[in-house]
Amino acid sequence: MNQLCYIKNMKEILNKAQLTHSLSKEEIKILLLEAPFELFKAADNIRKKFVGDEVHLRGLIEFSNICKQNCLYCGIRKDKQNVQRYRLSEDEIFLFAKHAVSNGFKTIVLQSGEDSYFSTDKMCSIITKIKNLNTAVTLSIGEKSYEEYKAYKEAGADRYLIRIETTDPKLYKTMHPRMDIENRKKCILNLKELGYETGTGCLVGLPGQTIDSLADDILFFKEINADMIGIGPFIPCEDTPLKDAAGGTLELALKVMAVTRLLLPDINIPATTAMETLHPNGRILALQSGANVVMPNVTEGPYRAQYTLYPGKIAVNDSPTGCKEDISRKIIQIGRTISSSKGFRRKKISLYKDFRC
Ligand code: SAM
Repeated sequence: MNQLCYIKNMKEILNKAQLTHSLSKEEIKILLLEAPFELFKAADNIRKKFVGDEVHLRGLIEFSNICKQNCLYCGIRKDKQNVQRYRLSEDEIFLFAKHAVSNGFKTIVLQSGEDSYFSTDKMCSIITKIKNLNTAVTLSIGEKSYEEYKAYKEAGADRYLIRIETTDPKLYKTMHPRMDIENRKKCILNLKELGYETGTGCLVGLPGQTIDSLADDILFFKEINADMIGIGPFIPCEDTPLKDAAGGTLELALKVMAVTRLLLPDINIPATTAMETLHPNGRILALQSGANVVMPNVTEGPYRAQYTLYPGKIAVNDSPTGCKEDISRKIIQIGRTISSSKGFRRKKISLYKDFRC
Protein backbone atom coordinates (compact mmCIF):
# COMPACT_ATOMS: atom_id res chain seq x y z
CA MET A 1 0.00 0.00 0.00
CA ASN A 2 1.43 3.43 -0.84
CA GLN A 3 1.86 6.06 1.88
CA LEU A 4 -1.22 8.10 0.86
CA CYS A 5 -3.52 5.06 0.88
CA TYR A 6 -2.21 4.08 4.29
CA ILE A 7 -2.90 7.51 5.79
CA LYS A 8 -6.40 7.45 4.32
CA ASN A 9 -6.91 4.00 5.72
CA MET A 10 -5.67 5.12 9.12
CA LYS A 11 -8.10 8.09 9.13
CA GLU A 12 -10.99 5.82 8.15
CA ILE A 13 -10.13 3.39 10.91
CA LEU A 14 -9.98 6.19 13.48
CA ASN A 15 -13.33 7.55 12.31
CA LYS A 16 -14.86 4.11 12.54
CA ALA A 17 -13.40 3.57 16.03
CA GLN A 18 -14.76 6.90 17.27
CA LEU A 19 -18.23 6.17 15.91
CA THR A 20 -18.67 2.47 16.57
CA HIS A 21 -16.09 1.64 19.30
CA SER A 22 -15.48 -1.57 17.47
CA LEU A 23 -12.54 -2.59 15.24
CA SER A 24 -11.28 -5.76 13.60
CA LYS A 25 -7.94 -7.22 14.61
CA GLU A 26 -6.38 -6.02 11.34
CA GLU A 27 -7.59 -2.47 11.95
CA ILE A 28 -6.19 -2.51 15.48
CA LYS A 29 -2.83 -3.70 14.15
CA ILE A 30 -2.71 -0.82 11.65
CA LEU A 31 -3.30 1.65 14.48
CA LEU A 32 -0.58 0.06 16.59
CA LEU A 33 1.91 0.16 13.72
CA GLU A 34 1.24 3.69 12.54
CA ALA A 35 2.49 7.12 13.66
CA PRO A 36 0.64 7.83 16.87
CA PHE A 37 -0.30 11.53 16.83
CA GLU A 38 -3.79 11.16 15.27
CA LEU A 39 -4.48 8.11 17.42
CA PHE A 40 -3.61 9.92 20.66
CA LYS A 41 -5.75 12.89 19.60
CA ALA A 42 -8.73 10.65 18.85
CA ALA A 43 -8.36 8.79 22.18
CA ASP A 44 -8.17 12.11 24.02
CA ASN A 45 -11.38 13.30 22.31
CA ILE A 46 -13.21 10.11 23.23
CA ARG A 47 -11.92 10.33 26.81
CA LYS A 48 -13.28 13.88 27.06
CA LYS A 49 -16.62 12.97 25.51
CA PHE A 50 -17.29 9.90 27.65
CA VAL A 51 -15.55 10.42 31.00
CA GLY A 52 -14.89 14.16 30.97
CA ASP A 53 -11.98 16.20 32.25
CA GLU A 54 -11.97 14.85 35.80
CA VAL A 55 -8.97 12.81 36.89
CA HIS A 56 -9.57 10.27 39.66
CA LEU A 57 -6.76 9.88 42.16
CA ARG A 58 -6.51 6.47 43.84
CA GLY A 59 -4.18 6.12 46.85
CA LEU A 60 -1.98 3.05 46.44
CA ILE A 61 -0.75 1.12 49.51
CA GLU A 62 1.86 -1.53 48.66
CA PHE A 63 1.39 -3.61 51.79
CA SER A 64 3.60 -6.67 51.16
CA ASN A 65 6.36 -7.48 48.69
CA ILE A 66 6.37 -11.17 49.63
CA CYS A 67 5.18 -13.32 46.74
CA LYS A 68 4.83 -17.03 46.12
CA GLN A 69 4.81 -16.57 42.34
CA ASN A 70 7.83 -16.46 40.05
CA CYS A 71 6.78 -14.26 37.10
CA LEU A 72 9.95 -13.92 35.02
CA TYR A 73 9.73 -10.13 34.68
CA CYS A 74 8.85 -9.17 38.24
CA GLY A 75 11.14 -7.49 40.76
CA ILE A 76 9.39 -9.10 43.73
CA ARG A 77 9.25 -12.64 42.29
CA LYS A 78 9.79 -15.41 44.83
CA ASP A 79 13.31 -16.37 43.74
CA LYS A 80 14.67 -12.85 43.40
CA GLN A 81 17.65 -12.22 45.66
CA ASN A 82 18.53 -8.82 47.12
CA VAL A 83 14.97 -7.83 47.93
CA GLN A 84 14.32 -6.52 51.42
CA ARG A 85 11.06 -8.31 52.03
CA TYR A 86 8.42 -6.68 54.20
CA ARG A 87 4.79 -6.97 55.13
CA LEU A 88 2.88 -4.19 56.83
CA SER A 89 0.87 -4.87 59.97
CA GLU A 90 -2.89 -4.43 59.91
CA ASP A 91 -2.47 -1.28 62.02
CA GLU A 92 0.08 0.21 59.61
CA ILE A 93 -2.14 -0.48 56.59
CA PHE A 94 -5.07 1.17 58.34
CA LEU A 95 -2.95 4.15 59.42
CA PHE A 96 -1.68 4.77 55.87
CA ALA A 97 -5.24 4.49 54.56
CA LYS A 98 -6.48 6.93 57.21
CA HIS A 99 -3.79 9.45 56.28
CA ALA A 100 -4.63 9.09 52.58
CA VAL A 101 -8.35 9.59 53.18
CA SER A 102 -7.72 12.69 55.29
CA ASN A 103 -5.52 13.91 52.42
CA GLY A 104 -8.57 13.73 50.11
CA PHE A 105 -8.28 10.29 48.45
CA LYS A 106 -11.65 8.69 47.70
CA THR A 107 -10.26 5.27 46.82
CA ILE A 108 -7.65 3.14 48.55
CA VAL A 109 -5.91 0.51 46.43
CA LEU A 110 -4.37 -2.35 48.41
CA GLN A 111 -1.67 -4.09 46.39
CA SER A 112 0.77 -6.87 47.31
CA GLY A 113 2.56 -9.93 46.06
CA GLU A 114 0.70 -13.20 46.55
CA ASP A 115 1.43 -13.40 50.26
CA SER A 116 -0.39 -16.28 52.03
CA TYR A 117 0.13 -14.61 55.43
CA PHE A 118 -2.84 -12.41 54.58
CA SER A 119 -5.57 -15.00 55.14
CA THR A 120 -9.15 -14.33 54.06
CA ASP A 121 -10.04 -13.32 57.63
CA LYS A 122 -7.12 -10.88 57.84
CA MET A 123 -7.96 -9.32 54.46
CA CYS A 124 -11.64 -9.01 55.36
CA SER A 125 -10.78 -7.34 58.65
CA ILE A 126 -8.54 -4.80 56.84
CA ILE A 127 -11.18 -4.13 54.17
CA THR A 128 -13.94 -3.61 56.77
CA LYS A 129 -11.85 -1.14 58.75
CA ILE A 130 -10.88 0.87 55.68
CA LYS A 131 -14.47 0.90 54.39
CA ASN A 132 -15.44 2.60 57.66
CA LEU A 133 -13.41 5.58 56.45
CA ASN A 134 -16.07 6.07 53.74
CA THR A 135 -13.77 5.28 50.83
CA ALA A 136 -13.89 2.91 47.90
CA VAL A 137 -11.55 -0.08 48.24
CA THR A 138 -9.71 -1.67 45.33
CA LEU A 139 -7.75 -4.90 45.78
CA SER A 140 -4.79 -6.03 43.70
CA ILE A 141 -3.57 -9.16 45.45
CA GLY A 142 -3.50 -11.74 42.68
CA GLU A 143 -5.19 -15.08 42.06
CA LYS A 144 -7.64 -16.27 44.73
CA SER A 145 -10.54 -18.71 44.85
CA TYR A 146 -14.14 -17.72 44.10
CA GLU A 147 -14.91 -18.05 47.84
CA GLU A 148 -12.10 -15.70 48.79
CA TYR A 149 -13.18 -13.09 46.24
CA LYS A 150 -16.74 -13.46 47.56
CA ALA A 151 -15.62 -12.92 51.16
CA TYR A 152 -13.68 -9.75 50.24
CA LYS A 153 -16.71 -8.46 48.35
CA GLU A 154 -18.96 -9.10 51.34
CA ALA A 155 -16.45 -7.28 53.54
CA GLY A 156 -16.93 -4.24 51.28
CA ALA A 157 -14.29 -4.39 48.52
CA ASP A 158 -15.52 -2.49 45.46
CA ARG A 159 -12.95 -3.14 42.76
CA TYR A 160 -10.27 -5.66 41.85
CA LEU A 161 -7.26 -5.30 39.55
CA ILE A 162 -5.70 -8.38 38.01
CA ARG A 163 -3.89 -7.97 34.72
CA ILE A 164 -4.02 -10.81 32.26
CA GLU A 165 -0.45 -9.60 31.42
CA THR A 166 -0.65 -11.23 27.96
CA THR A 167 -3.39 -13.21 26.21
CA ASP A 168 -0.84 -15.12 24.14
CA PRO A 169 -1.03 -18.61 25.74
CA LYS A 170 2.53 -19.58 24.81
CA LEU A 171 4.05 -16.33 26.00
CA TYR A 172 1.94 -16.46 29.17
CA LYS A 173 3.26 -19.94 29.94
CA THR A 174 6.88 -18.87 29.43
CA MET A 175 6.50 -15.77 31.58
CA HIS A 176 4.59 -17.40 34.43
CA PRO A 177 6.06 -20.72 35.61
CA ARG A 178 3.50 -23.02 37.18
CA MET A 179 0.67 -20.58 36.46
CA ASP A 180 -2.21 -21.19 34.08
CA ILE A 181 -3.74 -18.60 31.76
CA GLU A 182 -7.12 -20.33 32.01
CA ASN A 183 -7.10 -19.87 35.77
CA ARG A 184 -6.19 -16.19 35.36
CA LYS A 185 -9.14 -15.74 32.99
CA LYS A 186 -11.38 -17.62 35.42
CA CYS A 187 -10.34 -15.25 38.21
CA ILE A 188 -11.29 -12.25 36.04
CA LEU A 189 -14.67 -13.76 35.15
CA ASN A 190 -15.35 -14.73 38.80
CA LEU A 191 -14.69 -11.14 39.85
CA LYS A 192 -17.12 -9.87 37.24
CA GLU A 193 -19.74 -12.38 38.30
CA LEU A 194 -19.37 -11.27 41.94
CA GLY A 195 -20.13 -7.69 40.96
CA TYR A 196 -16.69 -6.14 41.35
CA GLU A 197 -15.62 -3.30 39.12
CA THR A 198 -13.04 -5.44 37.41
CA GLY A 199 -9.73 -4.22 36.07
CA THR A 200 -7.28 -6.06 33.92
CA GLY A 201 -4.54 -5.07 31.50
CA CYS A 202 -1.27 -6.11 29.95
CA LEU A 203 2.45 -5.57 29.87
CA VAL A 204 3.81 -4.11 26.65
CA GLY A 205 7.21 -5.16 25.35
CA LEU A 206 7.64 -8.62 26.83
CA PRO A 207 10.30 -10.61 24.93
CA GLY A 208 8.63 -12.44 22.06
CA GLN A 209 5.43 -10.40 22.25
CA THR A 210 4.04 -9.36 18.86
CA ILE A 211 1.71 -6.64 17.56
CA ASP A 212 -0.64 -9.49 16.71
CA SER A 213 -0.80 -10.58 20.34
CA LEU A 214 -1.21 -7.00 21.61
CA ALA A 215 -4.20 -6.66 19.26
CA ASP A 216 -5.60 -9.85 20.83
CA ASP A 217 -5.09 -8.34 24.30
CA ILE A 218 -7.17 -5.29 23.32
CA LEU A 219 -9.89 -7.49 21.84
CA PHE A 220 -9.92 -9.50 25.08
CA PHE A 221 -10.47 -6.30 27.12
CA LYS A 222 -13.37 -5.45 24.84
CA GLU A 223 -14.83 -8.95 24.89
CA ILE A 224 -15.01 -9.13 28.69
CA ASN A 225 -16.12 -5.48 28.90
CA ALA A 226 -13.53 -4.69 31.58
CA ASP A 227 -14.27 -1.72 33.84
CA MET A 228 -10.63 -0.64 34.17
CA ILE A 229 -7.58 -1.30 32.05
CA GLY A 230 -4.00 -0.76 33.20
CA ILE A 231 -1.35 -0.86 30.49
CA GLY A 232 2.30 -0.71 31.44
CA PRO A 233 5.56 -0.96 29.52
CA PHE A 234 7.62 -3.93 30.70
CA ILE A 235 10.79 -2.58 32.36
CA PRO A 236 13.60 -5.14 32.78
CA CYS A 237 14.64 -5.67 36.38
CA GLU A 238 18.05 -6.70 37.70
CA ASP A 239 18.40 -10.20 39.21
CA THR A 240 15.46 -11.52 37.17
CA PRO A 241 15.64 -13.91 34.19
CA LEU A 242 14.66 -10.99 31.92
CA LYS A 243 17.31 -8.56 33.18
CA ASP A 244 18.93 -8.28 29.73
CA ALA A 245 15.71 -8.00 27.72
CA ALA A 246 15.05 -4.88 25.65
CA GLY A 247 11.88 -3.85 27.50
CA GLY A 248 8.86 -1.99 26.23
CA THR A 249 8.63 1.56 24.92
CA LEU A 250 6.43 4.33 26.20
CA GLU A 251 5.13 4.98 22.68
CA LEU A 252 3.82 1.47 22.13
CA ALA A 253 2.31 1.31 25.63
CA LEU A 254 0.51 4.60 24.95
CA LYS A 255 -0.75 3.28 21.61
CA VAL A 256 -2.19 0.14 23.23
CA MET A 257 -3.82 2.35 25.86
CA ALA A 258 -5.22 4.79 23.28
CA VAL A 259 -6.78 2.03 21.15
CA THR A 260 -8.28 0.56 24.34
CA ARG A 261 -9.89 3.93 25.10
CA LEU A 262 -11.41 4.04 21.61
CA LEU A 263 -12.95 0.59 22.03
CA LEU A 264 -14.03 0.98 25.67
CA PRO A 265 -14.88 4.69 25.82
CA ASP A 266 -16.47 4.89 29.28
CA ILE A 267 -14.03 2.86 31.39
CA ASN A 268 -11.38 4.01 33.85
CA ILE A 269 -7.83 3.93 32.52
CA PRO A 270 -4.84 4.80 34.71
CA ALA A 271 -1.78 6.67 33.57
CA THR A 272 0.63 4.11 35.00
CA THR A 273 3.71 4.63 37.14
CA ALA A 274 5.79 2.51 34.74
CA MET A 275 5.03 5.07 32.01
CA GLU A 276 6.43 7.84 34.22
CA THR A 277 9.50 5.70 34.91
CA LEU A 278 10.31 5.71 31.18
CA HIS A 279 9.62 9.42 30.69
CA PRO A 280 9.58 12.28 33.26
CA ASN A 281 6.18 13.36 31.94
CA GLY A 282 4.85 9.88 31.12
CA ARG A 283 1.67 10.07 33.18
CA ILE A 284 0.69 13.45 31.75
CA LEU A 285 1.30 12.16 28.21
CA ALA A 286 -0.97 9.22 29.10
CA LEU A 287 -3.65 11.56 30.47
CA GLN A 288 -3.53 13.35 27.11
CA SER A 289 -3.84 10.08 25.18
CA GLY A 290 -6.90 8.49 26.77
CA ALA A 291 -6.19 8.01 30.50
CA ASN A 292 -8.34 9.49 33.30
CA VAL A 293 -6.92 7.97 36.50
CA VAL A 294 -3.65 8.32 38.45
CA MET A 295 -2.62 6.13 41.38
CA PRO A 296 -0.18 8.05 43.60
CA ASN A 297 1.72 5.92 46.10
CA VAL A 298 0.52 6.60 49.67
CA THR A 299 2.70 3.95 51.31
CA GLU A 300 4.85 5.62 53.95
CA GLY A 301 8.43 5.22 55.12
CA PRO A 302 11.10 2.83 53.79
CA TYR A 303 8.56 0.48 52.19
CA ARG A 304 8.12 2.76 49.19
CA ALA A 305 11.64 1.92 48.03
CA GLN A 306 11.34 -1.78 48.84
CA TYR A 307 8.39 -2.53 46.56
CA THR A 308 10.54 -2.46 43.46
CA LEU A 309 8.90 -4.24 40.55
CA TYR A 310 11.49 -2.62 38.24
CA PRO A 311 14.35 -0.13 38.57
CA GLY A 312 13.85 3.62 38.47
CA LYS A 313 10.52 3.58 40.31
CA ILE A 314 9.38 7.18 40.75
CA ALA A 315 8.95 9.13 44.00
CA VAL A 316 10.55 6.53 46.30
CA ASN A 317 11.98 9.28 48.49
CA ASP A 318 8.92 11.52 48.29
CA SER A 319 6.09 11.68 50.85
CA PRO A 320 2.48 10.74 50.03
CA THR A 321 1.49 14.40 50.37
CA GLY A 322 4.35 15.51 48.10
CA CYS A 323 3.38 12.91 45.50
CA LYS A 324 -0.22 14.02 45.47
CA GLU A 325 0.63 17.72 45.29
CA ASP A 326 3.08 17.17 42.45
CA ILE A 327 0.70 15.23 40.21
CA SER A 328 -2.29 17.44 41.11
CA ARG A 329 -0.37 20.55 40.00
CA LYS A 330 0.54 18.92 36.68
CA ILE A 331 -3.06 17.79 36.12
CA ILE A 332 -4.38 21.30 36.68
CA GLN A 333 -1.68 22.74 34.41
CA ILE A 334 -3.07 20.72 31.48
CA GLY A 335 -6.59 22.05 32.10
CA ARG A 336 -7.99 18.99 33.85
CA THR A 337 -9.62 18.81 37.29
CA ILE A 338 -9.21 16.51 40.29
CA SER A 339 -12.35 14.47 40.91
CA SER A 340 -14.02 14.65 44.30
CA SER A 341 -16.07 11.49 43.71
CA LYS A 342 -15.21 7.83 44.21
CA GLY A 343 -14.97 7.55 40.45
CA PHE A 344 -16.95 4.43 39.63
CA ARG A 345 -17.48 3.60 35.98
CA ARG A 346 -20.57 5.26 34.62
CA LYS A 347 -21.70 2.99 31.82
CA LYS A 348 -22.96 4.83 28.75
CA ILE A 349 -24.94 1.86 27.50
CA SER A 350 -27.39 3.82 25.36
CA LEU A 351 -24.49 5.27 23.41
CA TYR A 352 -23.12 1.81 22.74
CA LYS A 353 -26.54 0.74 21.48
CA ASP A 354 -26.90 3.78 19.22
CA PHE A 355 -23.50 3.21 17.68
CA ARG A 356 -23.90 -0.49 17.23
CA CYS A 357 -27.08 -0.49 15.17
N1 SAM B 1 0.17 -9.92 42.78
C1 SAM B 1 -0.76 -9.08 42.15
C2 SAM B 1 -1.09 -9.58 40.76
O1 SAM B 1 -0.56 -10.59 40.33
O2 SAM B 1 -1.93 -8.98 40.08
C3 SAM B 1 -0.39 -7.62 42.15
C4 SAM B 1 1.05 -7.28 42.24
S1 SAM B 1 1.91 -7.37 40.70
C5 SAM B 1 3.54 -7.06 41.23
C6 SAM B 1 1.38 -5.85 39.91
C7 SAM B 1 1.76 -5.66 38.47
O3 SAM B 1 3.12 -5.31 38.37
C8 SAM B 1 1.63 -6.84 37.56
O4 SAM B 1 0.33 -6.97 37.09
C9 SAM B 1 2.66 -6.55 36.45
O5 SAM B 1 2.04 -6.21 35.23
C10 SAM B 1 3.47 -5.38 37.00
N2 SAM B 1 4.93 -5.61 36.89
C11 SAM B 1 5.65 -6.54 37.50
N3 SAM B 1 6.94 -6.51 37.07
C12 SAM B 1 7.03 -5.50 36.17
C13 SAM B 1 8.10 -4.99 35.35
N4 SAM B 1 9.32 -5.50 35.40
N5 SAM B 1 7.81 -3.96 34.52
C14 SAM B 1 6.57 -3.41 34.49
N6 SAM B 1 5.54 -3.87 35.23
C15 SAM B 1 5.75 -4.91 36.06
